[in-house]
Amino acid sequence: PLPTIRGDINFDQVVFEYEKGRAALKGISLDVKAGQSIALVGHTGSGKSTIINLISRFYDITAGRITIDGIDIREVTLESLRTQVSIVLQDTFIFSGTIRDNIRFGRLDATDKEVEEAAKAVDAHDFITKLPGGYETEVEERGSALSMGQRQLLSFARALLANPRILILDEATASIDTETELKIQDALKILLQGRTSFIVAHRLSTIRHADKIVVLDHGEIKEEGTHREL
Ligand code: ATP
Ligand code: MG
Repeated sequence: PLPTIRGDINFDQVVFEYEKGRAALKGISLDVKAGQSIALVGHTGSGKSTIINLISRFYDITAGRITIDGIDIREVTLESLRTQVSIVLQDTFIFSGTIRDNIRFGRLDATDKEVEEAAKAVDAHDFITKLPGGYETEVEERGSALSMGQRQLLSFARALLANPRILILDEATASIDTETELKIQDALKILLQGRTSFIVAHRLSTIRHADKIVVLDHGEIKEEGTHREL
């Protein structure tokens, strides 16, 4: 069994270059306590996605150090790292299969009951049971028959079932109606509870609820603080 982590994350003078000589991150230092939620904001190209890619070790950093609970992430296996860190991407990943399969992808050994409980917790159960086949409804690749909000809720249910200590979320920019927006806000609150999270935030409500807002500018931290402080 994998050790359970607390979820403290530290960036120490992290430099990252996709291409030699062009730093996308120019010395990022950031201390995040277990359970905190961090909103990353900044202009396009400022380095938001790069930061979240580095936490899951999609790339190795050029200089500096990233630790989780004090352990350099280069020292843990990718398998164990990715059990502790889950990502919900902006272009929510839905594959062709049933709704149930799509949620269960978060944890392949989950029972039907656990799948449904996760869906209920994020308020996706209602829309799912109204579909012609309920949980057994086949969805197409990319979930084209589902609304943006529905896809978002499905991805939240999947992440909740995975139950990672660290959650990374690239928030969707697509506009959704107010009712769905409120539903997603509530679901997000439930999903973030008790985990460390990094959110590339586009919605004001998400930014307001974060414990810390990090404003990036050309690969550097320009400002850092709570919504009230900034
Ligand atoms: P956006 O709001 O547009 O998503 P972002 O803040 O997420 O922007 P990043 O994607 O982190 O920005 O990009 C930071 C810098 O790294 C930019 O200058 C970008 O051009 C560069 N970059 C990003 N991905 C790559 C890549 N795969 N190869 C080369 N350069 C890249
Ligand atoms: Mg990005």
